[in-house]
Amino acid sequence: MSRNRKQDNTIQGHPLTSQRRLLLELLHDDEGHIDAKELYRRASIKDGSISPATVYRTLNLFKELGLIDEIRLGKVRCYYEIKQSQGYQHLVCKGCGKIIRFQSPHFQKLIKEIQREHGFNIKKAELYLEGHCPGCEDNEEKELG
Ligand SMILES: [Zn+2]
Repeated sequence: MSRNRKQDNTIQGHPLTSQRRLLLELLHDDEGHIDAKELYRRASIKDGSISPATVYRTLNLFKELGLIDEIRLGKVRCYYEIKQSQGYQHLVCKGCGKIIRFQSPHFQKLIKEIQREHGFNIKKAELYLEGHCPGCEDNEEKELG
C-alpha cells in the first residue's frame, strides 16, 4: 500500500512522463474545476509539444487511477478536479457558468444522520445548486429596471 509513495517516477505502475506530471501539477494548482480545453490551454503554454489528445488520454488515465474526479455539470460540460476528501458541494451559476465550491457542516451532519437512520454506508454525497451568482444577479436586475 505504501509502495506508491516511494515511486516518484510512476503513478501506480504507469510511467509519470513530464507531460503527465505537468498536467497533474496544473490540476493541483487549480482551485476549483478545470475542463479539458482549459487544461490543454494552460499546459500548452508550458509545454508546446503537448497535444489535446494527450490531455484527454491523461485525464482518462488519472480518472481510472482515481486521482481525479470527473464532474458533469449540466448536460455537456465536464470538469476535472483532484480528488478531495469528501465534503465539497457546488453552486453553479446559470448565467456565467461559474462554479463555487463550498462546505457546509450542516450538510455533513445531515448525511451522517441519514447514514445512521438507514444503516447505509454513504460513500458519495453531492449537493448541486443552480442559480445566479451575485454578478449575474446584478445584471439581471439592471436589465429589468
Ligand atoms: Zn454568474
